[in-house]
Amino acid sequence: MPEWPEMENYRGLLAERIAGARITGAEVTREKSINVPAARFEAELTGQTVWFVEHRGKHLIFHLDNGKRLLLHLMLGGLLAFGTDEEAPDRSVQVTIRFAHGNLYFMGLRLGYLHLLSAKETIARLAKLGPEPFDKRLTAESFRARFAGKRGKLKPSFVDQAVIAGIGNCYADEIAFQAGVRPTASVPSISDETWRKLYDAMHTVLNRATALGGYMEMPLVEGDTLTGGYNEHCLVYDRGGEPCLRCGAPIVKEELSSRKIFYCPNCQREE
Ligand SMILES: [Zn+2]
Repeated sequence: MPEWPEMENYRGLLAERIAGARITGAEVTREKSINVPAARFEAELTGQTVWFVEHRGKHLIFHLDNGKRLLLHLMLGGLLAFGTDEEAPDRSVQVTIRFAHGNLYFMGLRLGYLHLLSAKETIARLAKLGPEPFDKRLTAESFRARFAGKRGKLKPSFVDQAVIAGIGNCYADEIAFQAGVRPTASVPSISDETWRKLYDAMHTVLNRATALGGYMEMPLVEGDTLTGGYNEHCLVYDRGGEPCLRCGAPIVKEELSSRKIFYCPNCQREE
């Protein structure tokens, strides 16, 4: 599932292409991916200008000039592509938004969705999200405080969107490796020093992954060599049995409350 770096990568690339552009048409081929009747969705979008594209946690928000917003969550399997009719992706598309210079294609929206909402509805939908990882108000102290009262292991709390928005299965493991603590560490027993390391590691890992284009499997536009660049640079995620990049020991793959976890038994302490 796309996480913070993937959505930030999309936001940047999309802003270059559609911020300020007028929507010339829209097509919905899977009505379940949206929240209003397809005809109304298409009619409401056509003629609107996308003011800007905002990123919040695992969501993108497309701000339209009539004050409405499109709230996107890709969930598992969702993908975006932008291109001309000739460059249309070779897989089933659930929603297409047309601009004079190209089309934005939404694919794999089975669990994911693209909802047309008022500003107020959008705010309500995002109300339970925790802060953004780079929110300046999220200091090392307030980061740690967000885990207060959590009794379980680190990973389930770290991927809880109400704790920090945008961190999921991949980056929770990557950040834990960077900080030298296991995803299975018990939250109440994590030391002050390790909380500080986790806070710094969150910024280091997310910045690096974003700079490398995140781990999406498909380029956004033809010739896009940035998107998906992080696939080759994962520290531990999806590297079970492969050598640790730091010490060479095989990366352990386990399950924790039905989630996959990856860590180096040598470089990461249980606390
Ligand atoms: Zn190691």
